[in-house]
Amino acid sequence: MSAGGMSGVGANGADATGSGLATVSATRSGSVAAGTVGIDPIRSGAPVSHRPLGILAALPQELGDLIDAMRAESGVRTITHGQRDYHLGTVHGAPCVVTLARVGKVAAAATVSALIHAFDVEAVVFTGVAGGVGTEVRVGDIVVANALMQHDLDASPLFPRFEVPLLGVSHFAANEALADQLAAACERFVAEEGAASAARFGTREPRVHRGLIISGDQFVASASGVKALRDALPDALAVEMEGAAIAQVCYEYGVPCAVVRTISDTADDHAPQSFVSFLTEIAGTYSNAILTRFLEARRA
Ligand code: SAH
Repeated sequence: MSAGGMSGVGANGADATGSGLATVSATRSGSVAAGTVGIDPIRSGAPVSHRPLGILAALPQELGDLIDAMRAESGVRTITHGQRDYHLGTVHGAPCVVTLARVGKVAAAATVSALIHAFDVEAVVFTGVAGGVGTEVRVGDIVVANALMQHDLDASPLFPRFEVPLLGVSHFAANEALADQLAAACERFVAEEGAASAARFGTREPRVHRGLIISGDQFVASASGVKALRDALPDALAVEMEGAAIAQVCYEYGVPCAVVRTISDTADDHAPQSFVSFLTEIAGTYSNAILTRFLEARRA
């Protein structure tokens, strides 16, 4: 286990209802962006009662039909900002801003920063696919992050391996309540549709895991690559390219966040083909199933 291990766990949005977020919110409400992009309801023009939820993915397939569902329910107002399209509206009763981060940590950090500053989101949920790293994690399973960290961050010997320099933290905790809600939505999906989904896609019946998701600017696609990650970070369940960047930005601004990943590959030599076929054929179905249940439960 590396020296960086669990040095400092940032509790993401732990003070979501406390003074921390209130301070951040008050600061942001004065920003030009919050005023100009606005969060007015799409049709009524009446004042907004709730700040929206930010929902993002890296790639369009990972959002499923979310934007179509928004179009049908409330209409969509699309604002282009920093070369990304932000879709504002209501989905399953929840006011949301939906966007694509594109791939990698910088893209993800830039996008979530805009969600916070220009769109004043109350919380952030990331949905997408990932490579399975934990020995029990198979293609078709779902991982909900309890914590996230950057597996390719190494400023040693100046700072412990994996620690974010000058922040004193390597792991960022997902917001517990949001992660619980996401996991509950995943469990309901598996109970209601898991067997049918397994038969349809030729996967095993999905299992829902909770634990550490690791992120880096690499598509991990070799047996040696995934073994090196397991050796360095035995707790890691899944590897992807955005989650820890989102969690870090949310931590620094006191915004609750959660990440859910469906396993598209096992980060080994088969990963490129497995990833592409899962992304094109299956990822959207999972996202629809999970997000629908998650958003409906928030409304209830
Ligand atoms: N332009 C390519 C890029 C995909 S990169 C494409 O559209 O096909 C892979 C994406 O899926 C990233 O967003 C990453 O978060 C996730 N991912 C899935 N499997 C992964 C793996 N084995 N290693 C790293 N990231 C993975």
